[in-house]
Amino acid sequence: MSLRITCPHCGVRPLEEYLYGEVPVVPDDVVGDDARDLDRAFMRANTEGVIRERWFHAMGCRRWLWADRDTRTDEML
Ligand SMILES: [Zn+2]
Repeated sequence: MSLRITCPHCGVRPLEEYLYGEVPVVPDDVVGDDARDLDRAFMRANTEGVIRERWFHAMGCRRWLWADRDTRTDEML
């Protein structure tokens, strides 16, 4: 069974209907517009544990939603 995400507008839907959008956090010690843009685009945190993510329900209501996911189990909390 594939991973499922609960959309507040459409209910529980399969992962394939969504596009993923990690919320990048640029450290304060990265300064300058170019350096911050580079960090935001390519330096993923790859956190082990619960992270907060943005998902776009592309094949449904076409709205963004927040979701908490445990990266160790891929469980949506
Ligand atoms: Zn939806």
